[in-house]
Amino acid sequence: MSSTLVSVSVDLDALACYHRIHALGDGPSSEARFAILRRALPRLGELFARHGIAATLFTVGHDLEDDAEGRQIIVELAKAGHEIASHTYSHPYNLVRLGRDKIADELDRAHAAIAEACGCPPIGFRAPGYEITAELIELLCERGYRYDASAFPAIPYYLAKAAVMTVMRMTGRKSSSILGSPKVLAAPCSPYRPAASAPYRRGNLPIIELPVTVTPLLRLHVIGTMLVISPEWLRRQLVSSALTTKHFNLELHGIDLADATADGISPALVARQPDLRVPLVRKLAALDATLTQARDVGATFTTLAQAAEHFASEGI
Ligand SMILES: [Zn+2]
Repeated sequence: MSSTLVSVSVDLDALACYHRIHALGDGPSSEARFAILRRALPRLGELFARHGIAATLFTVGHDLEDDAEGRQIIVELAKAGHEIASHTYSHPYNLVRLGRDKIADELDRAHAAIAEACGCPPIGFRAPGYEITAELIELLCERGYRYDASAFPAIPYYLAKAAVMTVMRMTGRKSSSILGSPKVLAAPCSPYRPAASAPYRRGNLPIIELPVTVTPLLRLHVIGTMLVISPEWLRRQLVSSALTTKHFNLELHGIDLADATADGISPALVARQPDLRVPLVRKLAALDATLTQARDVGATFTTLAQAAEHFASEGI
């Protein structure tokens, strides 16, 4: 039996975020504007219910105020036992470059919006674009957050992102995404306490860093978007490799279960996101198979909050 803990989380980035990453001038259509919370999230909720697992939903505070229907879906999922964590108030990709006051404002407004909607203040955080700094971690510690789940030490992902951003710059398209510090590539791949001055190094802060899972050695990313576009043999290999680690921190995005046709997603965005060209039924089958594979080796499913408590009790 495996001793791996598996935590499934979902970043609930609205489709407008993807339009900003790809520098698509027009935002999503009015039909697609709320598609992540209203259409993709219920599909994820059904997937989790089928497997009997509680997930962690990284929620953007502003969306709770902007979309009453989406908010209700999140509230129901919280009642069903899923953890609601913070993904900032407005999902600024350049969060860490905004300065201390604006970063604090992003954290506090998201915190208040989630506490107000769900009746339970968040204790976990993930930064847009995965980038953290000593200042951001310090602000989370001041607010008593128990964990951060932003570190993403994936080497091929980082190089691919750098290449795409270079091409966009050369062709005059301005992505709102930023390329974070390469120091993340040497960050620990398993849960750790960050150092106060260097969040990608081990230290003794009260908060726990739960890195998004990469494979040992090659540091290939094992996230939803990768799993839904990979052929079955590769997906199985990636998941089996992730299941050899002590914490399989499986990051999904709401868009992983979007249906490009039925959800009214713009052809320009579909052209730039390979996962949107995979039929929903195939993406669902890939995530179903991933959760089954984890269950079959005897892994234990926990929310990220529970995982943080577990690793804290182990004295990391
Ligand atoms: Zn995000």
